[in-house]
Parts: sequence; C-alpha cells; structure tokens
Amino acid sequence: MDNYSFSGKKALIRVDFNVPLDDHFHITDDTRIRAAIPTIQKILKDGGSVILMSHLGRPKSGPEDKFSLKHLVNHIADLLGVPVLFATDCVGEVAEKAAADLKAGEVLLLENLRFHKEEEKGDRDFSKKLSLLGDVYVNDAFGTAHRAHASTTVVADFFPNDKMFGYLLAAEIESVDRVLKKAERPLTAVMGGAKVSSKISIITHLLDKVDHIIIGGGMTFTFVKAQGGKVGSSLVEDDFIETAKQILKDAEAKGVKIHLPVDSVVADRFDNAANTKTCDSNAIPDGWMGLDVGPRAEAAYHDLLMDSRTILWNGPMGVFEMEKFQHGTEAIGRSIAEATAKGAFSLVGGGDSVAAVNQFGLAHKVSYVSTGGGALLEYMEGTELPGIAAIRG
Ligand code: AMP
Repeated sequence: MDNYSFSGKKALIRVDFNVPLDDHFHITDDTRIRAAIPTIQKILKDGGSVILMSHLGRPKSGPEDKFSLKHLVNHIADLLGVPVLFATDCVGEVAEKAAADLKAGEVLLLENLRFHKEEEKGDRDFSKKLSLLGDVYVNDAFGTAHRAHASTTVVADFFPNDKMFGYLLAAEIESVDRVLKKAERPLTAVMGGAKVSSKISIITHLLDKVDHIIIGGGMTFTFVKAQGGKVGSSLVEDDFIETAKQILKDAEAKGVKIHLPVDSVVADRFDNAANTKTCDSNAIPDGWMGLDVGPRAEAAYHDLLMDSRTILWNGPMGVFEMEKFQHGTEAIGRSIAEATAKGAFSLVGGGDSVAAVNQFGLAHKVSYVSTGGGALLEYMEGTELPGIAAIRG
C-alpha cells in the first residue's frame, strides 16, 4: 500500500463489512468497518477513488432486503467524513456505470456480493465482471481470506501487477507471523474452548512452534481422563482420548510443556445457579462437572505468562457466558494484559476469546486482537490461505 500511488486510480477493495445489525438495521458493532478505514483513507488521500465490496450475512438465493449493504451507507459515510455512493448490484450495467462515473476522492459501495451464487463458487466470469470495475485490487478482509471466493481470491488473477494487501490484512498477517514464525521466546499458547476435537490440528501444528501450551476449558477433561484422572460428569470426548494421549506424548518428545489446570471449579449442574466448589482437576466427584479453571491453576498460569515473551490466546478457560464460571477466563485475560505491559507480544484470536477480551475491557491491553475467526484458526493450522496466496502468487 505504502509504495503504490493511487492517484487517478479506481481501487476495488474487498472489505469484511459483515457486521451485526439490529431489527432496525442499526449496526451494533462496527469494529470491522473501523478496521478498514485507514486503507480507504490512504487511497483517497493519494487522489484515488474507492469501490468497496463485501458480503453481509448468509442470503440463500438472490437479493434479500435484510442483507442489503445499503443499510451501511450512512454509517460508513459518517466514519469517513465523505459521502458514500451506492450501486444496487455488484456487477453488470448498474455497477459498471457507477464505477465509470466515479471521480477522484469518491467512495462507492457495491451491493452484497453473496446476492450472486457465483461469489462463493469462485466463478471466473463473475470474478472478471468484478475486475472490470477497478484499476487495482486491494484485499483488506482477513475474515474471508480462508475462502477461495470470487472477490477474495479469483478476482486477483485479473490484476497481475496491481494487487496488494490492505493495511488491516497486512497487520493481521504480520501479527500472526510474529507468533508463528519469528516469536521471541518463551512462546506460550493458551488454548481453551469446549472441545479437543475442534482444536487438534492447531495444537498439533503448535507443538512444532511453542515452548508451553496452557490448556483450559472443556477440553481439559479429555486430557485429564487420558492421564487416568477422575473427571466426574465433565465434558469428555471419549473418541479423542487416544488423540489426547498422543498429543501428550508428542509434546514430551518435542520438549513442549503442556500445562493442565491443577484445580477446577466444579458444579453439580450446567447452570449459573448450580452449587459449586473447587477440587483437583483429576479428582472430580461423581455428579460434578468442571466448568472453569480453579484458583491454583490461575496462579500457576499467571506465573508462566509473566515469564513468556510471546503469547497466543485462543478459547475461553471456562463457561464464561455464565458469571459463576467466568473468573478463570478473566484472570487469564488479565495475566496476558499484565505480561503485555511488561513487554510481551500477545495475540488474541478466535471468536470467543475476542468476545472475552471485549467483555472484560482488555482489548486495548493486549498487543493485537485478530478479526480473523475461522481464517486465523486455519492460518494457525499451517494452511496457506487462498486469499493470501492469490496476492502473493
Ligand atoms: P470453542 O468455540 O471451542 O472455542 O468453545 C467455546 C465454548 O466453550 C464457550 O461457549 C464455553 O462456554 C465453552 N466451555 C468452556 N469451558 C467449558 C467447560 N469446562 N465445559 C463445557 N463447555 C465449556
């Protein structure tokens, strides 16, 4: 972006404006729009014009008013401080005319890409039609970088010499690479969430990268059971006990320390009004289930994080949606914030941990909060994301 002059150019930007809307079509969280502003402003400042394309929601077949990007026009205009024009279709005559009429300094928002089924199919003709609208292609949507869709991947083929990452996508890649490729040691990954099964490929990939893995959340108990512990009625994936054993074995062979919570907050039912107590994670009485990490685990994790120079956090330590079981997740978040203040680099990513740092007011106290979700998880698994490959290739 910085080495390219957009003067007199029409920049076709793939943004991720898939924002939540309330019943009156007001945006309830505009983080994703705000995140794209620097890229748009750089282009306008250079004397270029901007054509924004995005998806919104999951329209089933064709246009649906509730998924129209027209609902976003005023909000984007307010954030940018310039008027935003709108094209009622993202390809074809309407879009081509609106793009052709666009003058330097102007912004055009296209209608929802997913009103055309060709978008998600990565259709080549549709991609070509999109490409007709701009002189240069900018991808600034990390949230969809793992999808080989027309606007995220295929369209780049039509701009062999004029394609690039926007500032947001570049910053996302930079911060994940800072963890996965050039981390200062010790590097600690904090993995939580419900199930081992959904995190296996990430954990396996991380075994070649990290010094420590802190485990929390529901997946704890599959590991504890694999070690012969008593887990009461905690969430356990019996089909993954062997996998958990293998992960523990591989970790040992690779010199990676896996830290399971020494104690847990247990409850007599899955309910915020349940009776609770604290016990060792490997000695949970029958009829009780582990729903959060305990105070001794929190203290041990705090010490370990204070000694870490790079930290990756994905997934809550407990059922943080319920007040009684949110303490461990908040404590981990606070420890990571404290380690960051001491100079560690911390990356938080994956839906629920992002929700947690926001809930506890910690988003500005960690180094980077990824907008990635599924894209971040796939990148952490070691997959080359099609949206990234399309720009680099
Ligand atoms: P994931 O999407 O895999 O990151 O899982 C997030 C979900 O895991 C959250 O909704 C948490 O409530 C849930 N979770 C965390 N700890 C536990 C636990 N000990 N038992 C059951 N569910 C949990």
